[in-house]
Amino acid sequence: MKVLKPDICVIGAGSGGLSVAAAAAAFGVPVVLVEKAEMGGDCLNFGCVPSKALIAAGKRAHAMRGAETFGIGAVEPDVDFKRVNRHVHDVIAAIAPNDSVERFTALGVQVVRAEGRFVNRRTLVAGDVEIRARRFVVATGSRPLVPPIPGLDGVPYLTNETIFGLTRRPGHLVVIGGGPIGIELAQAHRRLGSKVTVIEGQSVLGREDAEAAGFVRRALVQDGVELLEGTKVVSVELRGKTGVRVHTEGPRGASSVEGTHLLVAVGRTPNVDGLDLRRALVAFDARGIKVGPKLRTTNRRIYAVGDVNGGPQFTHVAGYQAGLVLRPLLFRLPARFDAALIPRVTYCDPELAQVGMTEAEAQKKHRRVNVLRWPLAENDRAQAERRTEGLIKLVLGRRGRILGVSIVAPNAGEMIGLYALALSRGLGLRDLAGWVPPYPTMGEIGKRAAITYFAGATRKPLVRGLIRFLRRFG
Ligand SMILES: Cc1cc2nc3c(=O)[nH]c(=O)nc-3n(C[C@H](O)[C@H](O)[C@H](O)COP(=O)(O)OP(=O)(O)OC[C@H]3O[C@@H](n4cnc5c(N)ncnc54)[C@H](O)[C@@H]3O)c2cc1C
Repeated sequence: MKVLKPDICVIGAGSGGLSVAAAAAAFGVPVVLVEKAEMGGDCLNFGCVPSKALIAAGKRAHAMRGAETFGIGAVEPDVDFKRVNRHVHDVIAAIAPNDSVERFTALGVQVVRAEGRFVNRRTLVAGDVEIRARRFVVATGSRPLVPPIPGLDGVPYLTNETIFGLTRRPGHLVVIGGGPIGIELAQAHRRLGSKVTVIEGQSVLGREDAEAAGFVRRALVQDGVELLEGTKVVSVELRGKTGVRVHTEGPRGASSVEGTHLLVAVGRTPNVDGLDLRRALVAFDARGIKVGPKLRTTNRRIYAVGDVNGGPQFTHVAGYQAGLVLRPLLFRLPARFDAALIPRVTYCDPELAQVGMTEAEAQKKHRRVNVLRWPLAENDRAQAERRTEGLIKLVLGRRGRILGVSIVAPNAGEMIGLYALALSRGLGLRDLAGWVPPYPTMGEIGKRAAITYFAGATRKPLVRGLIRFLRRFG
């Protein structure tokens, strides 16, 4: 067996692993990268990239149907699902070279294409290679969680790993799960002409601010997505040769939905099986590998980044954590992961973006919470674009400290970055009120909301704040 002794061995060539490997190699550190399947991981092959490409196609179709408002004859688009699928895979292919073995080899990373498993605290075996690295970084990601629904084993169901392979449009897509993945894919398919039903045990986008999620709910219903909220799936059975019948228990009692395709999108499970983590003395549970704020596992030589450590499951988090583990590894600098600063976006239309606490989370943790809102309907650009459904909410604590921001807008994902920066740098309302956004942009809603804090002041300290504000900007 070939023995390699690099400084760093990274397991998993997805968003987290690729970032660790590329950065370490850039600093001249010997790195081995172990990948058992596709380079690029979930994000490139079965996640962010194909879903956003499909959503983009759905938006085009939707715009054609809604052109009338602009004085342009609306048409029902002729959707060729095979070509839509080709578009999705063309987008993957355009990005794939960035994550390829060739590129990483050229960067100086030694890539091993095999499944990795630990044989002891210091050694990983992958294929016919034994790797004894100074440090290991586990970045093996997650996979779709398949719930124990009676009958599910006996029907052909889709997950994010198979749905982007469809070259024929589903006639009726039944989606189990109204979280971000379920909602994004439901809306995209609906806009591309499928009938879509979403079954959600609680409420759609239930983790998000309820008022913000309400805008998304209305948009989905307007698009024609059937939403069954507060509805549990009881069992599933085959209907005909390939169709499904889903039995449910909802607010109006027992019922069933029949569809041509079933998508299971109820959550994620960490990829820890097969790694033999016990042999490496790395503790884990159903949520993932246990790590501290420095992302170190119970074996001090081994770190875990990305979806596998059970933190927020996003590509930007995997990338951020990759940067954090390299600080102590390469420079002996301190590192501390702070989940509170991580923005998240559901790329439905309108998009829903969040950073920091939602209003409900803030109410639980703080005694005094103040919420400033500004609706898109009061924004000139939103009027011009005929996209007035949405708002910004600034959630404030004592003395106007920003605790969180929720935005619903067509491009909320592009807007939330400013507030992520504001939170991470401790900027306050005064900074937001003093910032000059270009006119006319939807981004102005943040400044407008911030100004209401000063303009609506009635109590003495706030009046003083208003006077200071007017002196500065009046
Ligand atoms: C449909 C969908 C849409 C999404 N959209 C977004 C989005 O818009 N924005 C966003 O930020 N996030 C999005 N995500 C989440 C994002 O894809 C993940 O958070 C991200 O890919 C996690 O990166 P990772 O490096 O932890 O794992 P991954 O990217 O999954 O990479 C893990 C890699 O490890 C490999 N591996 C596993 N076990 C082993 C082993 N034993 N040996 C060798 N290799 C192994 C796997 O084959 C895989 O390539 C989406 C996810 C899904 C499913």
